[in-house]
Amino acid sequence: MFNLCASGLGPRNIAKELEKRKIVRPSVYRFESTGIKIQDTNLAERYSWSTKTVVGILENEVYLGHTVNCKSTTISYKDKTKVKIPKEEQIRFENTHEAIIDKETWDIVQNVRAGRRRITKTGIISKFSGLLFCGDCGARMTFNSARKLKPENYYFMCASYRRHKAGDCTTAHRIRESVLEEIVREEINEAIFRARENKEEFIKCITSRTQADNDRRLFEKQSTLTRLQIRSEEINKIFRKLYEDNALGRIPQEQYDILSESYTKELSEIKEKIPYLEQEIQSIKDETVGVSKFLYLADKYVYIEELTPEIIRTFISKILIYDKGKDEPKEIEIYFTNIGKI
Ligand SMILES: [Zn+2]
Repeated sequence: MFNLCASGLGPRNIAKELEKRKIVRPSVYRFESTGIKIQDTNLAERYSWSTKTVVGILENEVYLGHTVNCKSTTISYKDKTKVKIPKEEQIRFENTHEAIIDKETWDIVQNVRAGRRRITKTGIISKFSGLLFCGDCGARMTFNSARKLKPENYYFMCASYRRHKAGDCTTAHRIRESVLEEIVREEINEAIFRARENKEEFIKCITSRTQADNDRRLFEKQSTLTRLQIRSEEINKIFRKLYEDNALGRIPQEQYDILSESYTKELSEIKEKIPYLEQEIQSIKDETVGVSKFLYLADKYVYIEELTPEIIRTFISKILIYDKGKDEPKEIEIYFTNIGKI
């Protein structure tokens, strides 16, 4: 299913494909293997997948090997209405079990999904959707596929230029999708060629540029992490002492309560920050090994004839368009996944 999505099929088409391949849908499968029936499950319709089920699976981190707890809660013990908890507040345990899909496929699928949520009036989605930004103001580029346009004339334009408000972009940043496609395809092929032609030279070129910057960021994050870890140990010690003092009557209850509350608060704040920092540190480390990932991709693809949404998201993380006005040529800045600008 993840592969179907990565290759550019939307949830509706994936559902159809699963039906065609006679894959039993989850609720029926659960009933047949456990005997537990979910409300409204029509057991006669074994293969009719809903779009919602497909989306739920595509976005479920369980398939990546993580367990996410506290996804929803009830408003109160009286009101049992289920409320979704925002992603950042969910408690997440990484690598709790073996992943069914690899991180690479997962990332592509999430990129494709993030891009696909923006659907145009005509229902036509650009293969670049979600990746294009205005280099001058940072706004998203909107895709225009009006019915009166021929497909080769579909174009992108800076979203803030269209608003015509003070402070918004004064140039359109208009670029045709077909032109962009040609340029991006050439750039990817050029990068693949360079990477394959002289691997050592390519590695040297990319790492010398990113290494210094990454080292600095890594140092900063790591020092903060160490500081927090030391503080967390300190608090634990203080707390033990405090508890002891209170138990032995050396400190009044009221004072104990105040101190205990403030240390608990500080500790829970630290506990929140630590996993976030660790994740950031990991992602900086991942960037450092990004070149080898890129070399692997270069060897896998060799030469790209046609850009699919999957290939675009495999190679490209974002594209910026610069437009300094009529007399200047537009500039396109391409950021590759794993290695950034080259
Ligand atoms: Zn702009």
